[in-house]
Amino acid sequence: MSDSATNYGAGTGVEGSPHGAGDGTRAVRAGLPEPVKHEPTLPGPVFAAHFHLPGEPTGPYTYGRDENPTWTHLERAIRELEAPGQDDVETLVFASGMAAISSVLFSQLRAGDVAVLPDDGYQALPLVRDQLEAYGIEVRTAPTGGDAQLDVLDGAKLLWIETPSNPGLDVCDVRRLAEAAHARGALVAVDNTLATPLGQRPLALGADFSVASGTKQLTGHGDVLLGYVAGRDAGAMTAVRRWRKIVGAIPGPMEAWLAHRSIATLQLRVDRQNATALKVAEALRARPEVTGLRYPGLPDDPSHKIASQQMLRYGCVVSFTLPTRARADRFLDALRLVEGATSFGGVRSTAERRGRWGGDAVPEGFVRLSVGAEDPADLVADLLRALEESAD
Ligand SMILES: *Cc1c(COP(=O)(O)O)cnc(C)c1O
Repeated sequence: MSDSATNYGAGTGVEGSPHGAGDGTRAVRAGLPEPVKHEPTLPGPVFAAHFHLPGEPTGPYTYGRDENPTWTHLERAIRELEAPGQDDVETLVFASGMAAISSVLFSQLRAGDVAVLPDDGYQALPLVRDQLEAYGIEVRTAPTGGDAQLDVLDGAKLLWIETPSNPGLDVCDVRRLAEAAHARGALVAVDNTLATPLGQRPLALGADFSVASGTKQLTGHGDVLLGYVAGRDAGAMTAVRRWRKIVGAIPGPMEAWLAHRSIATLQLRVDRQNATALKVAEALRARPEVTGLRYPGLPDDPSHKIASQQMLRYGCVVSFTLPTRARADRFLDALRLVEGATSFGGVRSTAERRGRWGGDAVPEGFVRLSVGAEDPADLVADLLRALEESAD
């Protein structure tokens, strides 16, 4: 990776310097309204269940479940990052990543439709699968790696991709899968949580929807739950918007405002965290007790080839396996700069033994490490010390 950990170019759907401005410039300015004298640059959260609305009810702001000016600013910010300069892309924010995911699936699919999901994706997808099946939707699954979802696409109405997958960090070829799905008349959604819009632009790679949890690196401080859907097809997005209104899966104005404030530092955080993740992966690779090390930014990682073609940055998550469950638990206990916690993407490093939840098909000693914004040398030293101290 280059100095800024950016590798715009062939295959990413992002050729050259996008629309003049660099990612840091775009991040600090994303979604800001025209400046108004004596007003703050980023207007504060608008707390309103309803808006003053005498006479004929016309938009944009009528009732707080339908629209809110604080969401509007945040939605513009996310759109400018997911699809710079593309005003035909619409973005909708949600109360959580799962609200966003559910809104796409349940607004687009009907009884009798076929949906293809990854079998190694986010841990709530099996719950979603059960619910889809209860509504008479056929669900097929296949692994992310090796573009294996291609083999089960025939007759599908919607293909759900998660790349890099969480927690296994496999990567699939979004452009190839999207072309195959579109040739069969299927819609394509990509879970862009792990990469963030500065790491990957699914819409430029051919997806119909880029969907993500904003709870992770997008907002990056572990204090907000948020989700979003970005899409270009106006009809499909109208259905997603309608679903948000029906289920009321809306973010509070305070969360939306905090998220927007956090996006200003997105480029700083991802560049720092992702560069440190690579250093951490390199340090772990040298350790004999570490197996199954995965980081898409490592040149010899099985995901690296495709990742380097379609990603702009490789994320802040590193996964690996220690010999036993007990060893992994001792390692996690011995860490001082890495908090034991689930989730990922925050400025403070976190790690967990993924097997403690059940569900993911991972070894007992499998650790998912989310690399934060600590000084790289401090973090690497802490990890190596904890490995030493946890040895048998
Ligand atoms: C966390 C996560 C989600 C769910 O997001 P929430 O904000 O927790 O609802 C979905 N997909 C991926 C890949 C995630 O990591």
